Amino acid sequence: MTEVILQSILTCPKCGHKKEETMSTDSCQFFYQCESCHKVLKPKSGDCCVYCSYGSIKCPPIQKNQDCCKH
Ligand SMILES: [Zn+2]
Repeated sequence: MTEVILQSILTCPKCGHKKEETMSTDSCQFFYQCESCHKVLKPKSGDCCVYCSYGSIKCPPIQKNQDCCKH
């Protein structure tokens, strides 16, 4: 079994604010609002969720080598 880390530190690209968030294992988070500057973050192109673009740890499906946005 693969260890999946659920805590990821998101860094806001606008103001640099860092916040540790807990990811859910079964869905991707596409939008995230920075609590400091209130900018709504969206994934960069090619990334599936905000954690892959701005987090310290990629989202759980990516950690498990799964394609996370297939339903
Ligand atoms: Zn911010």
